Amino acid sequence: MTKSKSGTKRGDKTRLVHAGRDPSAQHGFVNTPVYRGSTVLYETVAALESKKQPYTYGRRGTPTVRALEAAINELEGGAECRLTASGYQAVTTAILAFVETGDHILVADHVYQPTRQFCDYMLKRLGVETEYYDPLIGGDIAGLVRENTRLIYTESPGSQTFEMQDIPAIAAVAKARDLWLLNDNTWASGLYYQPLAHGADVSIQAATKYIVGHADAMLGAITSNARAARHVERAAGHLGVCPGSEETFLGLRGMRTLDVRLERHHKSALEIAAWLQQRPEVSRVLYPALPDDPGHAIWSRDFTGACGLFSVILKPASKAAVAAMLDGLELFGMGFSWGGYESLVIPFDCASYRTATNWQPEGPALRFHIGLEDPADLTRDLEAGFGRLKDSA
Ligand SMILES: *Cc1c(COP(=O)(O)O)cnc(C)c1O
Repeated sequence: MTKSKSGTKRGDKTRLVHAGRDPSAQHGFVNTPVYRGSTVLYETVAALESKKQPYTYGRRGTPTVRALEAAINELEGGAECRLTASGYQAVTTAILAFVETGDHILVADHVYQPTRQFCDYMLKRLGVETEYYDPLIGGDIAGLVRENTRLIYTESPGSQTFEMQDIPAIAAVAKARDLWLLNDNTWASGLYYQPLAHGADVSIQAATKYIVGHADAMLGAITSNARAARHVERAAGHLGVCPGSEETFLGLRGMRTLDVRLERHHKSALEIAAWLQQRPEVSRVLYPALPDDPGHAIWSRDFTGACGLFSVILKPASKAAVAAMLDGLELFGMGFSWGGYESLVIPFDCASYRTATNWQPEGPALRFHIGLEDPADLTRDLEAGFGRLKDSA
């Protein structure tokens, strides 16, 4: 329901509340319930043969699944959305939808690390060649396009190092050379950035992160434009892609509060990122929402907000000192994933999985997820952490 009955285009907040929801179809109850099911019954042989029934088998979708697909599709401005069992499955299904043996694909060097694994092992086995490129390449990506290049894969910002990609510039090349353009949009969740409106054919999300929003379910989404939808639909069908019913319900529940949660994540992350920039222990903060970030110009041109995820490069410090800092944190949990209501931190070193660019930061790197706690409590926790870092230096 992008538009009202009178035809006015509705705002994001209204759409998040109303998208993919039809109380009249469920006895007036506000929320679409969890449909659990494998078998869907047909009344007659004629109904079975007509193939007109909207639901035919659990794996092929339930009203709960269709509801969340419709809602994400509306947010992303797509022709069709297909849910997957995880964000990673959304990545692999979307790539497999477009490639065949003999193809060459271009993948940003800063992508989510398992995406690289899929390219380096599975795609390689299938005879698809992956070439990694500098995420800052912009329109110069034209120089890497070969006769057999099939697609360009982007992620903006990169989920560890936060380089912003010039998607419209890359999209112009993809269009001119008839390539598919895929964009991992997990960081901005579809609310703060719409890849399809910037020239991508497919937007991929780990809905596990902000759409679910409570660190309690795995879910992915692939949203396609009309040109790409048929390919994604076919690949998802052939691969047996099927999200869980409870997980899908949790995704729907998360959607309704996405705007208020993200607004708080953005505000608190900006505050804490600026606080970290002033710390003597910190060399750099990598967060495109900061005015002096190298990606800020692209971010403010293409995005309408930022999430709670950013990284920090510390000044040189020993491993033991960093461990002392992190081990004693009371409010920041340590673990993979992000997008829940809680704050997280994780040390990382992507030097071993960069091939097109050189990752040599001046000190240890930490990735933070700023949750919904009071920012003052979070900075107090970090301040004590910096004390331990200094004491064990
Ligand atoms: C987490 C993540 C994924 C994978 O999602 P899962 O739901 O954990 O499988 C893919 N891309 C990005 C950018 C992510 O952060």
